[in-house]
Amino acid sequence: MTLQDKVLERLQGLDDAGLRRRLRVVDTPCGPQARVDGRELLAFCSNDYLGLAAHPQVVQALQAGAALYGAGSGASHMISGHSRAHALLEARLSALYEPFIDQARALYFSTGYMANLALLTGLAQADDTVEFFSERLNHASLIDGMRLSRAPVQVYPHGDVAHLEQLLKESTASTRVIVTDSVFSMDGNLAPLRELDALAQAYDACLVIDDAHGFGVLGQQGLGALEHLDLRSPRIVYMGTLGKAAGVSGAFVVAHAHITEWLVQRARPYIYTTAASPALAHALMTSLDIVTGDEGRQRRETLATHVRRLRELLYLKHWSTPPTDTAIQPVIIGANTTAMQISSFLLTQGLWVPAIRPPTVPPDTARLRVTVSAAHDIDDVSRLARALNRAEREFHDYESY
Ligand SMILES: *Cc1c(COP(=O)(O)O)cnc(C)c1O
Repeated sequence: MTLQDKVLERLQGLDDAGLRRRLRVVDTPCGPQARVDGRELLAFCSNDYLGLAAHPQVVQALQAGAALYGAGSGASHMISGHSRAHALLEARLSALYEPFIDQARALYFSTGYMANLALLTGLAQADDTVEFFSERLNHASLIDGMRLSRAPVQVYPHGDVAHLEQLLKESTASTRVIVTDSVFSMDGNLAPLRELDALAQAYDACLVIDDAHGFGVLGQQGLGALEHLDLRSPRIVYMGTLGKAAGVSGAFVVAHAHITEWLVQRARPYIYTTAASPALAHALMTSLDIVTGDEGRQRRETLATHVRRLRELLYLKHWSTPPTDTAIQPVIIGANTTAMQISSFLLTQGLWVPAIRPPTVPPDTARLRVTVSAAHDIDDVSRLARALNRAEREFHDYESY
């Protein structure tokens, strides 16, 4: 049997289990109105929470960045790829986080996935014995970063601070690192960051916070979970992504300057990769102006209004919508095939809402991952709510025959 044949068999296994995923081709810029494989759809699936991905000023800044710095960086940061655009962006981010992290220094990465790999493998080399304490629902990039580091990992149940404390108590490692998402990407709820920070203090641990879905969305200025909770701590290592609410691409880590410098020296996923296009960093300066300014605040208010409205309009009896007021509003359905059927039904209604299945979420919690954006208008939100209410009714009436 050739490798192709073996793989084909496995692919058929995915089909049989209802787990085969399909790529769809989008012809339009990221936004609520999408043309997908030739069809016009109203999309509730992107992480462009503030609607900045196609914002004219951000697009213009990207063009200006390319004119100023060219298309590509040409090398890794350590060789010759570290452009003035990267340095300016990092200085800006460092200043923004100084109120939350002493001697804050930020480092820009081409993706959040790479940032997490770099951060966790870097931290694991900071001491002779490092142990990670990882929240059960952490994002795959955090899990992969810890695995790649080869340091031991203790997993604590979702939100279970007492369990985590027990694990910290038993640890004999000389450096303990708590690792958590701030806003869980498939549930939309917040980690108990204050309690985690208190534990980090009590047990002399470091706290890594992945704020991929909080940055831009939470806090007066959109600086994310730290600003939202007014959390200041020298123990925090913060990761924010710039391809979601910020609408562009990449991510940043911000930590005490000594820690950041250590990552520059030792984190292989930072060192052995070509620096992202400086034009992206240049565009991000404009995006940050918008995120942290009045327009960003207005966009966060619009987003919050949409989320409230959606929750008011939904009356679901069989499916659940966990309480959260972030932009991620999952509708938990249960069975994989049902979630797929509902997602297909919504498509027939012109609505694009992805079904998320295991292993991305735990077994029997397949769901629709609804994400709302400030770029939606209020009619978009009511159209979605009507379709979901109707989908549930029709599906369960049909089931009861
Ligand atoms: C999206 C995401 C990442 C990865 O960021 P990218 O820039 O998309 O690579 C990391 N952590 C979480 C929680 C995410 O949702």
